[in-house]
Amino acid sequence: MDASRVTKHEELNITTPKPSLPPGMVIGPDGKPCKICTAFRNWRPPTSGTASSSKKSTAGMMAAFASGTGFRSPESKPENAVLPPHCPPDVEALGRATWSFLHATAAYYPARPTTHQRANMLNLIHALPVLYPCTHCAADFDDKIKEHPPDVSSRERLSKWFCERHNEVNEKLGKEMFDCAKVDERWKDGPPDGSCD
Ligand SMILES: Cc1cc2nc3c(=O)[nH]c(=O)nc-3n(C[C@H](O)[C@H](O)[C@H](O)COP(=O)(O)OP(=O)(O)OC[C@H]3O[C@@H](n4cnc5c(N)ncnc54)[C@H](O)[C@@H]3O)c2cc1C
Repeated sequence: MDASRVTKHEELNITTPKPSLPPGMVIGPDGKPCKICTAFRNWRPPTSGTASSSKKSTAGMMAAFASGTGFRSPESKPENAVLPPHCPPDVEALGRATWSFLHATAAYYPARPTTHQRANMLNLIHALPVLYPCTHCAADFDDKIKEHPPDVSSRERLSKWFCERHNEVNEKLGKEMFDCAKVDERWKDGPPDGSCD
């Protein structure tokens, strides 16, 4: 690999979590705890100042971060806390919605796409590392796209490509691998028992 190549991680200044950060919380490229990069159950807002001022104050956030003591205590939220439906997405809700969109879009992509359709699919895929708001997710995805260039030549190949990229994230997160032979069943046809019809 070209040693001078700047990775997305370096470009975005993504660093490993500092010891003073509560477990599971992730630092964003601005050096502050990143809410959209963190699961709701792990998110601990800073406690300095009033609830409303601490939400908006960068200084409050940075002081809490620096001291490691200014975040809401872990006991304040159960380990299995579920994101309420009216709340902004966390890293998991955003991920589920995005994978649903990507797998379903691949499932309905043409078997023989036109040049225009291929170009648009490539644009969509290459936009993710630039625009996806979970920055460390975006940076890792960028690395994977470079290792495995997208195959947009057919519906079947694109579905497999997305399945494999999703499995790489599953592996990183310690989740079960998905059987890529079942992408159509999961994202297009539904199970043979007709329970989704
Ligand atoms: C591009 C991208 C990068 C991400 N990177 C990170 C990251 O670095 N760190 C992080 O914490 N989270 C990341 N996420 C989010 C993460 O992948 C999950 O979406 C999130 O953890 C919620 O997981 P889940 O178990 O609810 O199901 P998800 O993993 O969201 O899966 C949703 C459904 O898709 C199906 N499915 C599972 N695997 C596959 C597959 N391989 N092919 C087809 N269908 C499948 C299953 O039926 C599953 O229920 C990323 C998401 C995206 C879109």
